[in-house]
Amino acid sequence: MRDFSRVRRIVVKVGTNLLSSGEGIDEGRVRDICRQIAELKNMGYQVILVSSGAVGLGARELGHRNKVVHIPLRQACAAIGQPILMSHYREAFRKEGVITAQVLLTRNDLNNRKTYNNLRSSVSTLLSLGIVPVFNENDVVSIAEIGTAFGDNDRMSAMVASKIDAQLLVLLTDIDGLYTGNPKKDSSAVLLDEVDEVTDSIIAFAKGAGSTFSTGGMKTKLLAARIAAMADCATIIASGYSPDVLVRILKGERIGTYIHPSIRLTQRQRWIINNSHSGAIVIDDGAVEALEKRHSLLPSGVTGVSGAFESGDVIQVRRQDGRLFAKAVTGYDSTSLAMMMGHRSSELDGLLGEGHKDCIFRPEDMVVIDDSSL
Ligand code: GLU
Repeated sequence: MRDFSRVRRIVVKVGTNLLSSGEGIDEGRVRDICRQIAELKNMGYQVILVSSGAVGLGARELGHRNKVVHIPLRQACAAIGQPILMSHYREAFRKEGVITAQVLLTRNDLNNRKTYNNLRSSVSTLLSLGIVPVFNENDVVSIAEIGTAFGDNDRMSAMVASKIDAQLLVLLTDIDGLYTGNPKKDSSAVLLDEVDEVTDSIIAFAKGAGSTFSTGGMKTKLLAARIAAMADCATIIASGYSPDVLVRILKGERIGTYIHPSIRLTQRQRWIINNSHSGAIVIDDGAVEALEKRHSLLPSGVTGVSGAFESGDVIQVRRQDGRLFAKAVTGYDSTSLAMMMGHRSSELDGLLGEGHKDCIFRPEDMVVIDDSSL
């Protein structure tokens, strides 16, 4: 059952496809989205908008007709397009009597606890002032190639929802929700009304579904829903073309696909899961068993170290066969770990000098995950 009784904060994400018309930005669509958000505010909700579209608008301004793939040019397009995008939102929100604000994020801003706490408090201030913040990835400085990017705005919107304790994430796209097959090709494909958990078999439906032209597509939306679910935030994937979609959803109409929230992880656990990892270690089966029993990880169970990381970084913990087992905050840097691995605790003084603890991380510094997308 869809339950919106505890919803107070909502993150709404709109993709490039939805905002584009043949001519450029679809001003009617922007106005419509802003009108609906203003109505949600009147219903008592706090709303954050995550909007794509900067790269496309910048490209158009430069006269490019095709998708821009060259990274520095994409970044230039984002820098050109972002103020254009915001000017449309500012104008449309102004008509509704709503003040808007721009927030540009990189993944590092959420990874780093200090910048993340700053973000939380500035966004809370904006929301308490009745302002609708419009988020986008700071594409000018963050690119996937240097590991600082979210990758797509679906993922970013889920991480934002998770970090600012939203109870509902609405991903507006150009199809009605998640179908069991490709509705354009398969007449037996049905729209899923509710999904309890984003399992691999649910993600398999996304492959066949009529995908959008945006960066994301249905699979990234489901992975985003999975991130949101871990923060006890429900997700709805719905078509932004359906009239009054946001307002009707919050009034309880069964539109789109509703993905249930799952167990709530603590802020620290979510921070560990959503943090990009700096490296990885491989552990043997005995260590997996010990960690499952909530013991600390000792050097003797470590069989491999890869990447360069510092003490305090988030690392992946992999099984012997390479499968991801957990993410954890390491107490040792990669160089020390490479020296310590496979050794008994009693041998550590001889290897590293006196006074080193044998614990690499404690159970509370680790979250077991079985999901290679994280
Ligand atoms: N940040 C990109 C933009 O504004 C879009 C990323 C996405 O489509 O997910 O154009």
